Amino acid sequence: MHRQHIEVPAFGMDVLRALEAAGFDAWFVGGYVRDALMGRTAHDVDIATDAHWQQVQHACAAAGFATHETGVKHGTLTVVPDGEHAVEVTTFRTDGAYLDGRHPNDVSFVTSIKEDLCRRDFTMNALAYKPDTGIFDPLGGIDDIEQRIIRVVGDPEKRFKEDALRILRACRFASQLGFTIEPDTLVAMRASKHLLENVSQERTTHELDELLMGRFPHDAIMATADVLSFALPEITAMMGCPQRTKYHCFDVLEHTAWTVELSPQERLVRWAALCHDMGKPASAFFSPDGVEHFYGHAGVSASIARGISRRMLMSDRFADDLNLLVRLHSETIAPTRKSVRRFLAKVDGEPELLRALLHLKKADMAAHAPAYACNADEMDEVERMLDQVLADGAAFTIRMLAVNGRDLMDAGIPQGPQVGQAMKLLLEEVIEEQIPNERETLLARVRTLSL
Ligand code: ATP
Ligand code: MG
Repeated sequence: MHRQHIEVPAFGMDVLRALEAAGFDAWFVGGYVRDALMGRTAHDVDIATDAHWQQVQHACAAAGFATHETGVKHGTLTVVPDGEHAVEVTTFRTDGAYLDGRHPNDVSFVTSIKEDLCRRDFTMNALAYKPDTGIFDPLGGIDDIEQRIIRVVGDPEKRFKEDALRILRACRFASQLGFTIEPDTLVAMRASKHLLENVSQERTTHELDELLMGRFPHDAIMATADVLSFALPEITAMMGCPQRTKYHCFDVLEHTAWTVELSPQERLVRWAALCHDMGKPASAFFSPDGVEHFYGHAGVSASIARGISRRMLMSDRFADDLNLLVRLHSETIAPTRKSVRRFLAKVDGEPELLRALLHLKKADMAAHAPAYACNADEMDEVERMLDQVLADGAAFTIRMLAVNGRDLMDAGIPQGPQVGQAMKLLLEEVIEEQIPNERETLLARVRTLSL
């Protein structure tokens, strides 16, 4: 891969050239360079320069670019060269002492790109590029990218002590990139995990989100479970919880890690995959024949998921959806109209929530022992049935019934909770295909009720 040149977007080049034209040294740095070398699409473009932010602002104004003072205290100015794309331009710096285990107390600006690269977290993130020179790699980042290794720049314990967020960044990069964490780095992550208490919950949640949304979460979770456990103590009991049943070939943690990886990269489904079996260690028991059972584990998992969503500061809506998916994940859904409509009613009539449940169930099944994993395809059939039910407009919520509350009262149901009860009963009978969703039939049925 020893390519010395990478593709950079025109808007990024415009900023680099504007800085160079004003006599400054400027480099593309960070995730952009790493991702470009790996052939991944990178999102944000970062530039490091020896210009101070006021000088950057001056040079950019001369070129006609808009700028925003987003982080000038730390030397960062956001430049929008084309009215659309943002480029973060940061003055070369080293970080001063870290007294709170998370933020440098001060930053000092330095004159060389090399010093700037030395303050960065991992070698793969400590690369700089400019077209006239090529890649600048004083810390061996290219080798580590080639060997797919995450390695701290400098002394790992010291760097984690400065900023414990780096511990979680290592875990999530492992999941996003499929890289292995270098042994000394991993040892230091374990030894320093207690420092994660210095990281704000918002940042912790963000890193865990990114980890779960990665392409390679299985290996990342398995390699770092004893580090992640500080942020997610719920996973500790899953490690080594055996699952001695014919359906499984992994312990609860590894089954979970596979379920996460095999589920689509959607935030809700991935969190549900992480939580779906968390109740298993608590509900496990062995029958005399030595087989393990987990009756009722979904309900226990759902209450554990509730606790996690509170701690992770997730929105109420997300927390409710997560709870519902986890609670329903082990129920049987058949590829029949009846079954699909029953489950649509159980997910409050939200088709996308049922789709998420099917995706979770599919991944869960695929993470079972090979003889049972093939059942996963049945969920595709259920999803096709869901599409059919949605296309033909069959009722699965009270609002979709051919009668409303007013009609029921006209038919003799007294005003009050009885109206809701009657509607619920009608919906049930319609879903079970005992009566058609037709106004006259429904009203006739209502008249037979004694509410
Ligand atoms: P992503 O793809 O998530 O954007 P990234 O590597 O670009 O990955 P950013 O958070 O955008 O990550 O940070 C940009 C660069 O800043 C990193 O590549 C790294 O060089 C440096 N960096 C970010 N956070 C830290 C940190 N906590 N400690 C040291 N260096 C950091
Ligand atoms: Mg970035």
